[in-house]
Amino acid sequence: MVAATERDGVPTGPVAVSGPTEADWAAAVDAVRRLAPDARVLLICHVNPDGDALGSMLGFGLGLRRSGLRRVQATFPGPPEVPEPFRELPGLELLVPATEAYPDPDLVVCFDAASESRLGELVDRLDTAPVAVVLDHHASNTGFGDVLLVQPGAAATSVVAEELLRRLGVPLDAGIAECLYVALATDTGSFRFDATTPEVHRLAARLLATGIRPGDISRRIFDTRPFGAVRLHADVLARTCLEPTAAGGHGFVWTYATLDDLARHDQQPWVLEPLIDSVRCTAEADVSCVLKQIAGDAWAVSLRSKGAVDVSLVAVTLGGGGHRFAAGFTGQGTAAEVAGRIRNTLDVALINRDDRG
Ligand code: 5GP
Ligand code: MN
Repeated sequence: MVAATERDGVPTGPVAVSGPTEADWAAAVDAVRRLAPDARVLLICHVNPDGDALGSMLGFGLGLRRSGLRRVQATFPGPPEVPEPFRELPGLELLVPATEAYPDPDLVVCFDAASESRLGELVDRLDTAPVAVVLDHHASNTGFGDVLLVQPGAAATSVVAEELLRRLGVPLDAGIAECLYVALATDTGSFRFDATTPEVHRLAARLLATGIRPGDISRRIFDTRPFGAVRLHADVLARTCLEPTAAGGHGFVWTYATLDDLARHDQQPWVLEPLIDSVRCTAEADVSCVLKQIAGDAWAVSLRSKGAVDVSLVAVTLGGGGHRFAAGFTGQGTAAEVAGRIRNTLDVALINRDDRG
């Protein structure tokens, strides 16, 4: 089936819609229902988890606990630190470091990961568990796992998680709802992007009806950072470059944040995440980018587009992935070299698009 859809603020045009079938949902429900109360369930989300990854995983985990499963672990690859804005999420007690995750769980459920590479050292659990259920909403999902609940049209992975909880007969409570709300608000840009359909608002209404407080949640998740981060943002934004003729004349705007910037202002890497939202405001550029130094010559790259360019193509070409309007990858070299590679890849992406007519 083919239908028009939109993500992150701009229409994508026709894409293949191949969300879960009734058989997929039934298989996922069966994989959970057949578990004994003491079965070991391992929930995994992607590396460097964001609000959707953590929120959909912890909300679903709380739902499983509510349904009577006693041994539910939640985890993600890499260092086990939870970014500061998420340190009051309900369900954090389910989190264990990747090193302590069940080596051979009875069920694995993955959240918001478009490919196995996003599961890092936990990828082997796809094989050691008898069943792996994958909940995701990336169009670029590679189709790993045994039961695929991949809904490319969904605004967030939490949309898929809530539907599965509903099919399992697990009622929403305030803890589950807060997690799913954080996930939904994160991936819709606080209900600003075009993925914010009537169904998204109906889901938000069901979540709010549990009594959760959206003002408090939004302030904690989006609108609170240390004073040092405010000063750090000023430094990083001051060096933003605008290249109006790049991206086929649609414009490219970019900046970078170094480990030295973080050290100088005594800040943690999570404070860099909102920077892309300031850079992408630039009226003169369709494509925006923030490079965040991870180590010497390694950069975590965030890309955004307003619609002229599919940045997921650029990210995939450079070894990453994501959505049409929001994507990322890890780049090697100096900041200027990585930006140059993006600039070149943007040109190729535009040429290919023009070739397709
Ligand atoms: P962000 O810029 O917010 O980190 O990521 C934007 C989108 O790109 C998200 O959907 C995220 O999952 C995806 N993304 C970011 N970095 C990577 C990466 O290194 N690899 C892949 N496959 N996807 C990424
Ligand atoms: Mn997501």
